Amino acid sequence: MRAGGAATTVTAMARATKPRTRQADVVPIEHVHVAPLAIERFFDVLSAEQKAEFEETISRGRELLAGRVVWSVNSTAKGGGVAELLRSLMAYARAGGVDARWVVIGGEADFFRVTKRIHNHLHGWAGDGGPLGELERAIYESACAGAARQLAELVKPGDIVLLHDPQTAGLTAALKQRGAHVIWRAHVGLDLPNDYARDAWAFLQRYVEPAEAYVFSRQAYAWEPLDPDRVIIIPPSIDPFSPKNEELDAPAVRAILEASGMLADGASRPAVYLHQDGTPGRIDRHVELVGNVGLPDDTPLVTQVSRWDRLKDPLGLIESFVTGVAHDSDAHLLLAGPETSAVADDPEGAGVLNACIERWHSLAPEMRPRIHLALLPMADTEENAAMVNAIQRWSTVVVQKSLAEGFGLTVAEAMWKGKPVVAGAVGGIQDQIVNGESGLLVPPEDLRAFGEAMLGLLLDPERAEQIGRSAQERVRQEFLGSRHLRQYVDLFERVIGGWST
Ligand code: UDP
Repeated sequence: MRAGGAATTVTAMARATKPRTRQADVVPIEHVHVAPLAIERFFDVLSAEQKAEFEETISRGRELLAGRVVWSVNSTAKGGGVAELLRSLMAYARAGGVDARWVVIGGEADFFRVTKRIHNHLHGWAGDGGPLGELERAIYESACAGAARQLAELVKPGDIVLLHDPQTAGLTAALKQRGAHVIWRAHVGLDLPNDYARDAWAFLQRYVEPAEAYVFSRQAYAWEPLDPDRVIIIPPSIDPFSPKNEELDAPAVRAILEASGMLADGASRPAVYLHQDGTPGRIDRHVELVGNVGLPDDTPLVTQVSRWDRLKDPLGLIESFVTGVAHDSDAHLLLAGPETSAVADDPEGAGVLNACIERWHSLAPEMRPRIHLALLPMADTEENAAMVNAIQRWSTVVVQKSLAEGFGLTVAEAMWKGKPVVAGAVGGIQDQIVNGESGLLVPPEDLRAFGEAMLGLLLDPERAEQIGRSAQERVRQEFLGSRHLRQYVDLFERVIGGWST
């Protein structure tokens, strides 16, 4: 064991072996209120056939779930894709007449250290390098037992409980014992499992196994040891009415880019957007631009929006743009991600951002004004989302040059906006883009191929537009919340019916 681990070990062991009835050890669960959102919103974006199917889903769900509560349990109410997904799907489910409730379990630092380690292992990484042994098991089980005791008092036989991610797997057995239908959902996975991933499976398997169904985002992520007949594939989805994706006309896009300082201020009109709950919002904060280089007004723009993470390969993207695009087109490149303070406590993120800034300074003087590094304010999530929305809509081509990716929400977001996307052929990106039809998939390490794909779209606007149209259609068919809700109702029907359907 590494130096420094001993103190933690002793405390954690002491905590883990205390009598389980000691309430002082139990971190209270938190109930997250979700206001309903009108399901009729979907009628504007669905085809007639999809609309009929959605209405059928809603009434089937309402009937099936009458008198039951559908509990979603995870470990954070804010931040991250899972919380965003839950908030939106639960809002529509509640409007559809389902008693859907969201509970967040807490835990002490030791618990989250263990679950972070599991999370990293599931992604195939060493994480902090620590083990997943008996001590970690004791810490994990103790925290889960506390949460399970609290939930068991609320859950009734026949309820549905959706447990999300490794943090909540340890609640499965206790809630099943209450007579609930327990489903476990993993939001992470990797294309080719390695020893770390198998290590995490081995740790979690005994907790997950008693669940009635196991949900994964793509087939490749399903764990080998689980009963394949109980594995259900449900990919993520986007909310077309959230500030991130809601329709913005060209003047609204321009106004948001101007107000946030990305475009020179023309004060064209107030920079407003709609909050998730339909109330008005306004852009009040500024984007930090490295070297103060704002966006050009009338030049094609290639954009990547992502966290400052080496797996998003921002440096590779700069290289492929400089060597493969810049000389044959007048396009600019924008890399947009969270502001510096948001990555201050993320040493890896800060390192990647600094490497990008250094690379920018080392560019040839004529190249610097064509490459933009934008740090978006994160203080208000919905304001940040509105900026992302405007950036994606302003872009000519959107890139996601990931070296690894769970799903890649940014891809679906850009496709929904009718943008041609060039992306690494990794993880869930491959389920979203039909190569050559609704976007371009490129071998993730091939900088030259990325350059060619970006340039090809920039030089052939008709093809780019055609691909953008198919991209939007593909998201309409496969990646909206309406599809997601239907798959959930189908699954609930199966577990309630004892898998007879
Ligand atoms: N995102 C954002 N602001 C940023 C950078 C990213 O809102 O400055 C959003 C992005 O629009 C997407 C999510 O964060 O909705 C990232 O999800 P994705 O699946 O693409 O990647 P992850 O960050 O989960 O690896």
